[in-house]
Amino acid sequence: MLPPVLIVEDDTKLARIVKAYLEGADFRTVHVSTVREALQKAEEESPLAVILDLGLPDGSGEELCQSLKEMGDFPVIMLTAKSSEEELLAGFALGADDYVTKPASPRELICRLKAVLKRYDRGSAGKETVDSFNNGALVLNGLRHQIAKDGRPVAVTPTEFKLMLTLASSPGRTFTRDELISRALGYQFEGYDRSIDAHIKNLRQKIETDPRAPEYLRTVYGVGYMFAGERDAL
Ligand code: CA
Repeated sequence: MLPPVLIVEDDTKLARIVKAYLEGADFRTVHVSTVREALQKAEEESPLAVILDLGLPDGSGEELCQSLKEMGDFPVIMLTAKSSEEELLAGFALGADDYVTKPASPRELICRLKAVLKRYDRGSAGKETVDSFNNGALVLNGLRHQIAKDGRPVAVTPTEFKLMLTLASSPGRTFTRDELISRALGYQFEGYDRSIDAHIKNLRQKIETDPRAPEYLRTVYGVGYMFAGERDAL
């Protein structure tokens, strides 16, 4: 079962609306209204993401955000009445992945949530998380972060997996190295763009039958890379 989205909000009316919208979009949810419960549930459930109200009765949402980010690798979206630039920047400094200013439209909240989940490669509610190519020869499982080649699991690093998932999201499309860095490694990555080449080389060793004549990960000279597999249709 997919982990839930943890809603931390002491305004029960607002929490009910957020919950209804998320469930309507096929997410599971768990709602808590205090810092104490939030920490407990985050520990127990290891959530898909956290939607966090900053004004909570038993502590600061900012501190909670920081604690949550130390607990696990899940995105946190702040729900905030604060809208001054300094306060929002402070929120990002504490590790928030995005924020929505109240009064917020639930639809906007869902869009933001899907966007951060995409950045984390968590997929949305278990959909489109498994992709199969070339008659099942290559299978990518976005939820488990696994690649299988000819039915055998291939051990890849998180960066290699993100890179693979990015390229395979659009078979036949050429990605520049800069695009791959921002999409697969995150915009905060300050690396030399040729570092992508090293990751591609490693991936080829792992998933190509002949790494020197790659079937999947093709070089587009002078531009970047493209994924050449054909997505299987059911
Ligand atoms: Ca509140």
